[in-house]
Amino acid sequence: MPNSADVVVAGAGPAGSAAAHLLASAGADVMLIERARFPRDKSCGDGITAHSVAILNEMGLSFESFDGKAVRVRGGRIGAPTGETFAATPDAPAGGAECWVVPRVVLDERLARAAQNAGARLVEGTSVIRTLLDNGRVVGVECTDGTSVRAIAARLVIGADGAHSAVAASLGLGRAPERHIGYALRGYYTGVADLRDDLEIYYFDRHILPGYGWVFPVGEATANIGIGIYAGELRRASRKLRDILAEFVACEPNVAPRLTQAKPVGRAVGWPLPVSTLHRPTVFDGALLCGDAASLVDPLTGEGIWTALVSGRSAGRAALAAVAANDASREVLSVHEREWRRIAGGYLSAGRLLKNLAKSARLLSLVVRRARENAYYASRALGYGLGTLDRRRALRAIVLRALFNPSFFRPS
Ligand SMILES: Cc1cc2nc3c(=O)[nH]c(=O)nc-3n(C[C@H](O)[C@H](O)[C@H](O)COP(=O)(O)OP(=O)(O)OC[C@H]3O[C@@H](n4cnc5c(N)ncnc54)[C@H](O)[C@@H]3O)c2cc1C
Repeated sequence: MPNSADVVVAGAGPAGSAAAHLLASAGADVMLIERARFPRDKSCGDGITAHSVAILNEMGLSFESFDGKAVRVRGGRIGAPTGETFAATPDAPAGGAECWVVPRVVLDERLARAAQNAGARLVEGTSVIRTLLDNGRVVGVECTDGTSVRAIAARLVIGADGAHSAVAASLGLGRAPERHIGYALRGYYTGVADLRDDLEIYYFDRHILPGYGWVFPVGEATANIGIGIYAGELRRASRKLRDILAEFVACEPNVAPRLTQAKPVGRAVGWPLPVSTLHRPTVFDGALLCGDAASLVDPLTGEGIWTALVSGRSAGRAALAAVAANDASREVLSVHEREWRRIAGGYLSAGRLLKNLAKSARLLSLVVRRARENAYYASRALGYGLGTLDRRRALRAIVLRALFNPSFFRPS
């Protein structure tokens, strides 16, 4: 492995591969260092919403070429704690992007190879241990392949190394407080009955709201099934994630009858969700953070791939400008934060607001009931979740309609 690069990117998940792809496509010298070897799994719901698909298409990934390992999703179904549900198929967005479910073991390798094919030097099986500093400025990383430790010099470092980011830790960012962390557990099941081309989300237990369970189709009678819950609710529930997943699978009335013949494939795998209620700095002298390392998961839905892609690309663009100017100071790199906030800031703010509202079982049940009655609400609510609509506008339209329509709140 060479001992220097213009830009070192730590972590080849969606954020790191998007950053490396953008840099390499523009001719920059970029090294993408990944702890695992591909193909590697990542615990995830595998739901790729329309706005993520639009970016992945721009990066040259075509979902039709996933050799039957991707399922196209057209709509969704949402269930309230009462067991009531509504379903809708939102209009396709103007650009024609679609939603897909793709196991991360497939998607992440494709993404990393796209970055590699664009010219990034992908180094697998190597962990970044920490950043190297000179006068308070990041000038490279120390990494290991498990047998030896070596230093890589870089003009700047992009930390895209996920929820347990070594780069963020070495920049002095400690563990996030409990209220900014969620946990999610995902299993694959075969023999699932009545799977549609829907993303299904069920707010099945009023005690863990805004936590929910999901059923996403990944193939013929095969589903990705999981639960996500805030750390505080998990502590207060005094239960293990596995027990809550078992309850979802066995008791949710819209799920349990379809799983009587189902079998789990392997063991369910859990992982933290660093939620964007935490405002972490993402720009440093000589370093940038993106994706989960920057705590950019949507507080309502748990979606993190879109913000990983958006912030990975903004980090890549800022890094390009810094390399061109031969200046990786915080001032030059601050375009990163301005860009990801401009694109994703409103969506994350909406998520923060809605996540608090979704703690109310009564409000959730009311919304589901109204959406059952009203196709406009139903398609807007699902368009919001599936990323087929501009989320700020969708939210404003729903709130205004509800406020100016007093019958929305009528008791039923
Ligand atoms: C159970 C679950 C379900 C989810 N479902 C969805 C969903 O359906 N849709 C959605 O959009 N989001 C979902 N998310 C969130 C989503 O998975 C993450 O937000 C997303 O993966 C973040 O991408 P990333 O590139 O920032 O980090 P990651 O995907 O975590 O990638 C980080 C990469 O860095 C590597 N790495 C880690 N440490 C080091 C190191 N020290 N040195 C080098 N490499 C390192 C890792 O091996 C990994 O390849 C879910 C999360 C969980 C836990």
